[in-house]
Amino acid sequence: MRFLHDSLPQRVRFASHEAAGQLAEEVGELGASRVMVIASEAAKESSERVAAGLPVAVWHHEVAMHVPVDVAFRAREAAAAHDVDALVAVGGGSTTGLAKAVALTTGLPIIAVPTTYAGSEATNVWGMTEADRKTTGADDRVLPRTVVYDAALTLTLPVEVSVASGLNALAHCVDSMWAPRADPINAVLAGEGIRALRAGLPAVKADPTGLEGREQTLYGAYLSAVAFASAGSGLHHKICHVLGGMFDLPHAPTHAVVLPHVLDFNGPAAPDAERRIALAFDAPSAGEGLAALRAELDAPVALRALGMPEDGIAPAVKAVLAVVPAGNPALVTEDDLTALLRAAWEGNLPR
Ligand code: NAD
Repeated sequence: MRFLHDSLPQRVRFASHEAAGQLAEEVGELGASRVMVIASEAAKESSERVAAGLPVAVWHHEVAMHVPVDVAFRAREAAAAHDVDALVAVGGGSTTGLAKAVALTTGLPIIAVPTTYAGSEATNVWGMTEADRKTTGADDRVLPRTVVYDAALTLTLPVEVSVASGLNALAHCVDSMWAPRADPINAVLAGEGIRALRAGLPAVKADPTGLEGREQTLYGAYLSAVAFASAGSGLHHKICHVLGGMFDLPHAPTHAVVLPHVLDFNGPAAPDAERRIALAFDAPSAGEGLAALRAELDAPVALRALGMPEDGIAPAVKAVLAVVPAGNPALVTEDDLTALLRAAWEGNLPR
């Protein structure tokens, strides 16, 4: 066995219904006295509840999907104008992403309080968009110092959004099995992530206001992101990144649709990954495990239903071909990708 593995330095506090207290302790330990709270308009009320006891210098509510550069610019200006010494992000991946954009240029520490299962809080990856082009990069300055997980904050996430967000997390796990820096440590984290999501998501669907499924899903989402941050982007993420950028598709549902096709394509060429995923699903094969879960969750099935045009398949294939990870377990040809994307576009699930 020979591998090189980096673990990112981060504290995790996990306690349902305790976000306010956990956050106050964390800010106290950090010695911060001028906090900038970043939360979307939709999360305004919950962020006020959670951050009530903090020394807040400025509340910032301008949050947008995929962090447009002008939105990042205004957030940085607000941080500078109020001389803040810490960032608290309460929200989903878009909110965490905005805090990361501020940390990237200021070095300010982030405390993330996630309210979806996106997992951005556990990675050192940032992303911003300008004129429909998304740029991403990895920088340790954007890794939140601490994550405060409070599953009660995800109780308001509608079932459909929860399912897509949770399947986005599942995609982190599956892709981590064969991504460029895949290693045995990532594989263990990803396997446990799949197990937790497989248990949590059906429970969220059956009882959206119950905490048990929400906690399992949040725990699985964290593991998935840690595995992904370490393993890097595999074929699945490369495809979704291209689709999201080209056609402005919704992030989480796009991942949910594409995942079974990539698993079907790569699985036979990656027997160790296939075995680990099947084991985590407690299913005869990885594909059957994912299919059963997706059916149980009524997961989205077609890219065309998400707004991708049919004549977008060919340019997407070309763009993906240029970024296929070198070590992808299966050889990827133009014909393979065309068949994969057409099936995902039409909603023809692998048998
Ligand atoms: P999001 O943050 O845009 O949230 C989706 C929607 O859910 C929004 O309308 C939001 O207001 C709402 N919402 C959030 N929490 C809620 C709650 N508890 N109750 C009710 N509504 C709630 O989307 P997302 O899926 O969380 O994140 C997607 C973004 O994160 C993308 O831009 C993606 O690129 C990024 N991302 C980055 C990384 C990374 O490592 N950098 C990892 C995963 C995702």
